[in-house]
Amino acid sequence: MLPVERYGRYVRIPTPTGFAVGDVNTYAILPSRGAPGPVLVDTGVRSDEAWEALRAGLRRYGFDVADIQLVLLTHAHPDHFGQAARIRREAGCEVWIHEAGERSLRRYTEELAGEPLEVARQHMRAWGVPEERTSDVRGPERARDVVEPLVPDRWLRDEEVVELADVRLRVIHTPGHCPDHIVYVDEQRRVALSGDHLLPDITPVCLLQLPTRRDGERPSSLMQYCNSLEKAEAMKADLVLPSHGDVVRDHYSLIASYRTRMDERRDAVLSAFAGGEATAYELGRRLFADAIDDQLFLVLSEIVGHLDVLEAEGMLETRSVAGRTLFRPMKSSELALAGA
Ligand SMILES: [Zn+2]
Repeated sequence: MLPVERYGRYVRIPTPTGFAVGDVNTYAILPSRGAPGPVLVDTGVRSDEAWEALRAGLRRYGFDVADIQLVLLTHAHPDHFGQAARIRREAGCEVWIHEAGERSLRRYTEELAGEPLEVARQHMRAWGVPEERTSDVRGPERARDVVEPLVPDRWLRDEEVVELADVRLRVIHTPGHCPDHIVYVDEQRRVALSGDHLLPDITPVCLLQLPTRRDGERPSSLMQYCNSLEKAEAMKADLVLPSHGDVVRDHYSLIASYRTRMDERRDAVLSAFAGGEATAYELGRRLFADAIDDQLFLVLSEIVGHLDVLEAEGMLETRSVAGRTLFRPMKSSELALAGA
């Protein structure tokens, strides 16, 4: 577990999640002298352990949960907003999140049924998922037991500036990991709160975003993420405070390493075809045999993300057979012709 640590006005308070990812870092922005209490960025899951860790961290700086003035969220995943509602009750403060979080938050209270479920299952079928597993389309909202349902007080927008007493945070919408992800940048102090968009030890996953209507489009999470990486690359920060793991001092080389890893993964997907055609599910089984049964949604997110990119680059041929999409890499001779 990382220690509670102070970086100027920002205090990192790690709290346990019980998930494979380990602790999640919440950040308290300390008030200037004489001002009321801190502002909190992300909350941890809803559990007594997380609550106690947050309290203990705040106490070191003379505050309690009741002193929190405002809760800002980076995105609507359980480890980030799980105990936001409880903090709001205790502190009487507001909770703000990006406007795209509305749908994400609803998924923790509404069962997937009717048309949205049918549309999701159709996608799963097309990717070659066995029929009995086509309903397995839940991502993080599977973890409902560590979340208290939340209706936020305000929706944030891209490029908006959150004005705190003497700290200004620019909101940068960075979809990819999920549609409602934002990074907060304190341009004056050159500090960024990167949520799960930039993480030092793991490459963030870009979760599938399934449409809820028959005529709905599925955005490509990985392509969104790549665009959002450019936004993160453009931000002027000397200190990046991520939601998992230690601080990042050089986000430029971190982003460069992500790009290298994404290229490697893309090549791995291409070689998994072994010269033939395959469904997304078959590729997932070849590349992630150990994980696909337990983490179908994660594995498909990874594979489909790369298939989206390869398809956009004109590297794949597809055909539909009995409702399933078969992908095949174009041969280099075909690519040459297509480019001619
Ligand atoms: Zn997340």
